[in-house]
Amino acid sequence: METFFCFRCTISRLKLENNNYKKMKFNTKTIHGKQKYDPAYGAVMPPIYQTSTYAQSTPGGHKGFAYSRSHNPTRQALENAFASIENGAFGLAFGSGLAAIDAVMKLLKSGDEVISTNDLYGGTYRLFTSIFEGFGIKFHFIGMQNVANIEDYINDNTKLIWVETPTNPMMTIIDIKATAAIAEKHKLLLAVDNTFATPYLQQPLDLGADIVMHSATKYIGGHSDLVLGALVVKDKELADQLYFIQNASGAICGPQDAFLALRGIKTLHVRMQRHCENGKAVAEYLASHPKVEKVYWPGFEDHPNHDIAKSQMNDFGGMVSFTTKGNNYEEAIKFVEKLKIFTLAESLGGVESLAGHPASMTHASIPKKEREKTGVVDSLIRLSVGIEDEEDLVSDLKQALG
Ligand SMILES: *Cc1c(COP(=O)(O)O)cnc(C)c1O
Repeated sequence: METFFCFRCTISRLKLENNNYKKMKFNTKTIHGKQKYDPAYGAVMPPIYQTSTYAQSTPGGHKGFAYSRSHNPTRQALENAFASIENGAFGLAFGSGLAAIDAVMKLLKSGDEVISTNDLYGGTYRLFTSIFEGFGIKFHFIGMQNVANIEDYINDNTKLIWVETPTNPMMTIIDIKATAAIAEKHKLLLAVDNTFATPYLQQPLDLGADIVMHSATKYIGGHSDLVLGALVVKDKELADQLYFIQNASGAICGPQDAFLALRGIKTLHVRMQRHCENGKAVAEYLASHPKVEKVYWPGFEDHPNHDIAKSQMNDFGGMVSFTTKGNNYEEAIKFVEKLKIFTLAESLGGVESLAGHPASMTHASIPKKEREKTGVVDSLIRLSVGIEDEEDLVSDLKQALG
């Protein structure tokens, strides 16, 4: 077989089918992990299979694809890439990050209880309290910086621990390994929202989590041009249950967005490297500025969870929050309006730098007293530091603070 030319053999030799990805380093996995060239023509990027259905030769006689809610080749390529970069075995892609969380919650039933991080993405909090509490699921929102707190809330009904780390917008770090040990001891599922860190920085499944969740809308997509979510697991039975929910509830992503997210994954490592470098430069500049009160960035040695961040993350990311002296609401608004390179916008994780004012934007619906309990004070600004030139970013902050 080796000696005569065969187009099909050449293709299969070019990229082995899903065999070697476990041995690859992360920067190779993002590009090749669990990927293969398209079997039809050898297309290097999986085509956008914009189809709802597939021809069958005889009833049930298809190539593994019968209907695109159930399976779609473009989505499958993305799901395989997710599984690979998170060191999982199974990936599932959804129409948004919240659709992915929604699928996890549907593993539960009325009477079950969930213990969740308190400094939580607002949309996740809304989904838990405004939708799933109504279906009889009980949530405990607690500080998890001291993981021992978790055990105080565990009872016979507890089924799931939901963790976000680093948290939004206070950049608190939660010890995933220690949380996983508690989950294992009490036979609970541990799900980690890995949106802020991405697998470039931390791989929760390796630290003992059962489910990793992503809003791929952010760093994974990386170009602020799509909304998409994902789950990754190791366990086959759990994957089957989640696949059942994905297909039964139907909150899948379309092939066009799957293609864009897959393209995003291929440059995740180079983008994240620059996000981390620029994040560090911005955090250090802000910390040295006389008008700045406090900078929240886990890379600082005096960050309360710096040691955990150092042990479970490869670097400290591009998200930086800070407050200014005097804690003035109007001054914070003026600051974000004066920015020229940082765009005032919701969301994060794109190539362009964004700035947000949580008190008037993402957290505006939370009463002042409540939001201040978790540190979201009037002058708090959250930056998603992009991959522009570091000097330009620093001078933009300088002129807006001046
Ligand atoms: C954006 C975000 C979500 C929700 O994802 P969507 O794609 O917007 O539905 C969940 N968790 C975190 C941490 C996020 O930043």
